[in-house]
Amino acid sequence: MIVVMQKGCSAEAIYNLMERIKGDGYDVHLSEGEERTIVGVVGHSPTPLKEENYSSMPEVEKVLRVTAPYKLASYDFHPNDTLVPLNGTLLGGEKVLVVAGPCSVESREQIIETAHAVKEAGATALRGGAFKPRTSPYSFQGHGEDGLKWMAEAREQTGLPIVTEVMSSELVPLVAEYADVLQVGARNMQNFHLLNACGESQQTVLLKRGMSSKLEDLLMAAEYVLSHGNSRVILCERGIRTFETATRNTFDLGAIPALQQMTHLPVVADPSHATGKWEYVEPVARGAVAAGADGLLLEVHLQPDKALSDGRQSLTPKRFRQLMENVRQVAQAIGRDA
Ligand code: PEP
Ligand code: MN
Repeated sequence: MIVVMQKGCSAEAIYNLMERIKGDGYDVHLSEGEERTIVGVVGHSPTPLKEENYSSMPEVEKVLRVTAPYKLASYDFHPNDTLVPLNGTLLGGEKVLVVAGPCSVESREQIIETAHAVKEAGATALRGGAFKPRTSPYSFQGHGEDGLKWMAEAREQTGLPIVTEVMSSELVPLVAEYADVLQVGARNMQNFHLLNACGESQQTVLLKRGMSSKLEDLLMAAEYVLSHGNSRVILCERGIRTFETATRNTFDLGAIPALQQMTHLPVVADPSHATGKWEYVEPVARGAVAAGADGLLLEVHLQPDKALSDGRQSLTPKRFRQLMENVRQVAQAIGRDA
């Protein structure tokens, strides 16, 4: 952090500031120019650095942060990209990985048949919700543990790892028993108890961006998981709420390069929830991969018109196969593979 003093400030103000910095356990780096004095706050201390405490001191003009508040998620202390293992390969590496499956696990047969279909088309992991965060309490809420068991059976048959949502901290031990990746949904991005529990579990976490969250908020949420020593965090752009209603959410394409500059964590895109319509899913998926997404999260349903949730945005297995072929070409055009 850098404290810029007012022009011609008094020696007493500088002295008081330096004493405060040292009192907080940090080192001082003083730079006295002809017109202005700048004081650097450096080093580490258990006392958190509060910008507002320093900016309200006498004769301080402004306070600038030079390191990101999301310390563990930023490149400041982690210069190399994080690669998250998934099904014998690495998310964040050369290959664009695809996680596909239904919005909800609806039956044993449905999830097993879908798992075979998406595997055949080239998916790396299987998604499916057993605990569903629904806007209405009257909508299908998921099959709970039965759904997890059916997913585990689908994994046994296909070898595809399971990505599934966990909605509360109390459910983390149960879901983690079955899941390979714990999904934290958009509505729970700032459920800090849940984030702490996911961090403690040491399981891979797929963290979806909240629908009204800034990227910095997303990274601060990731920080909760990372602060438990769990470095396997995947970020997911799934569209945000705007005034536009032609799509379910507004896909924030710029979030992909922005996140890649802000953090070493891998970034995936979910064009299904971002658009809400299956016919927009492939173009947005292609765009996301062209923009540098490390992976895709896609909803696939055997009979979208009969789906218990999100049928309108679900691809049939046939359309999913087509998408995979086209996305592969985009990936190859930018020197990757899918
Ligand atoms: C989902 O993945 O099915 C889901 C509910 O997503 P989101 O949390 O992004 O709305
Ligand atoms: Mn869904």
